[in-house]
Amino acid sequence: MHIVIIGGGIAGLGAAYKIRRAADAGHDVTFTLIERDERLGGKIWTDIAEDPDGGRYIADGGSDSFLTDKTAVHRVARLLGVFDEECGTLDETKKTFIVKRGKLVEMPDGMMMFAPTKLLPLATSKLYSWPAKFRMALDLVIPRKVRWAEGETAQQHDETLESLVVRRLGREALDRLAEPLSAGVNGDIASEMSVAGRYPMLLDMEQKHGSLVRGFLAQRKKVEEIKKKYPPKPGAKRRTFFSSFNEGLQFICDRMADAAGREHIRTGAAATALERVGEGWRVSLAGGEMLEADAVIVATEVWAAAELVSRVEPALAGLLETIPSSSCATALLAFDSADYPHDTRWHGILTPAVEHRPVTGVSLMSSKWPDRAPEGRILIRAFLGGPRDQAVLDASDEDLLELARTQLVELIGIRADARPRYAKLFRWDKGMPQYTLGHLDRVDEIERIEAGVRGLALAGNAYRGVGVPNALESGENAASKLLAEVGVTLAEDAVEEKRVY
Ligand SMILES: Cc1cc2nc3c(=O)[nH]c(=O)nc-3n(C[C@H](O)[C@H](O)[C@H](O)COP(=O)(O)OP(=O)(O)OC[C@H]3O[C@@H](n4cnc5c(N)ncnc54)[C@H](O)[C@@H]3O)c2cc1C
Repeated sequence: MHIVIIGGGIAGLGAAYKIRRAADAGHDVTFTLIERDERLGGKIWTDIAEDPDGGRYIADGGSDSFLTDKTAVHRVARLLGVFDEECGTLDETKKTFIVKRGKLVEMPDGMMMFAPTKLLPLATSKLYSWPAKFRMALDLVIPRKVRWAEGETAQQHDETLESLVVRRLGREALDRLAEPLSAGVNGDIASEMSVAGRYPMLLDMEQKHGSLVRGFLAQRKKVEEIKKKYPPKPGAKRRTFFSSFNEGLQFICDRMADAAGREHIRTGAAATALERVGEGWRVSLAGGEMLEADAVIVATEVWAAAELVSRVEPALAGLLETIPSSSCATALLAFDSADYPHDTRWHGILTPAVEHRPVTGVSLMSSKWPDRAPEGRILIRAFLGGPRDQAVLDASDEDLLELARTQLVELIGIRADARPRYAKLFRWDKGMPQYTLGHLDRVDEIERIEAGVRGLALAGNAYRGVGVPNALESGENAASKLLAEVGVTLAEDAVEEKRVY
């Protein structure tokens, strides 16, 4: 069986490496992966650049991390023999700030997502007004919106993030933290975002504990008990909430491509159409070339997938079109430490929509990760655009880099005349799928149609999780679907992985 994989992000690469494992296990299966861009990795892009005076920057322009709790990347890293190349964040410098009236206010200790779990830090924080703090405390007594019937899940009780947070914790809790978190991390619009699609555990918490604060307190207790029960073994890897790789996140994509076999991978090759030919498929490429395949995995952005399947499965394409995507850009800037004569013990800054700034978030990459910048330099990443302000992205790359620089002067106090030693703009056009209200119902329907189409599988971050591990797993699942259609299962599929470390 020959499978054509369209898209060389982590989902497509996950599919390719899985098919390679099937071939190595003796099954008669091959693949060709085609990627429109000249590089692999999609939304994962590490630029490694020299500083003129020595040393180098490891600059992640797209995703810079993955949730340590999710197993897919660790599992693949182990298979590739590169698990030891994983690195954790530098937690001794973990502070996060929120912009309030142009000034930076530290996120109160004990905040879990946007819910307070420690009284004193909340009481003394300048982030919220006193009425807002009292309103947040009401979460402990406000009854559930509704009691779910036996067997019901978050999906049947979906609501927007705005609705949930305002209902339980009040408007200021939304405006000051929940909104900037969802916009800054995933480019979401709080008034449209599906809680069931993104964070179903929040709805589960309300059901189980009658309160988000109590739910997070229970979660914290559980984590502390686990830590006590399983203390880190001497010499074991430090476990942090987020992980990456010493050489940046693209490292894992490159190793997957090597292991899958670069001879089966073509970059600079864009698919333009899919059609069925007898029992098989034909993939047309820009330039007129045609690829014959027994099966196809579409691992592109969702809007590109909709275009590709529109002729063969119009109903599927129609559903895919209902998943919107937003654009953003990231500006990576390095400065001399002398140009930032302030405390560098922080990881991030969130800018709420109510602050009306073009920058939605800032990460101090050289404090968040080890060895991202040479000694005596700092590396910063600023997010621009996002669903709140798509128009800002019409500016040229140079103007956006300068906009990010001036925002850093205003927000964190970079010297006004400081010139970056490294500057690169990364654009992510329609790069962030939005899980809007009812997302899971649409995905159920997409999967129902897809299951009935022999030889076609979809993969990527638009369906059941936007994170890197979700996207990787979706690629593996797409490969499994097509392999299963010809009676191939891998021994590894029977192993349920529970342990992260
Ligand atoms: C700025 C940014 C920051 C992020 N930060 C994080 C983070 O810290 N942690 C996290 O877990 N997630 C993060 N994410 C999300 C995460 O990076 C993505 O979910 C994941 O990388 C998506 O992988 P994918 O393979 O599904 O899609 P993509 O990476 O989008 O890959 C799809 C590929 O398909 C190709 N393609 C499209 N059309 C065609 C065609 N017609 N023919 C051939 N090829 C085609 C594209 O060029 C692209 O390379 C971030 C995303 C962005 C944009």
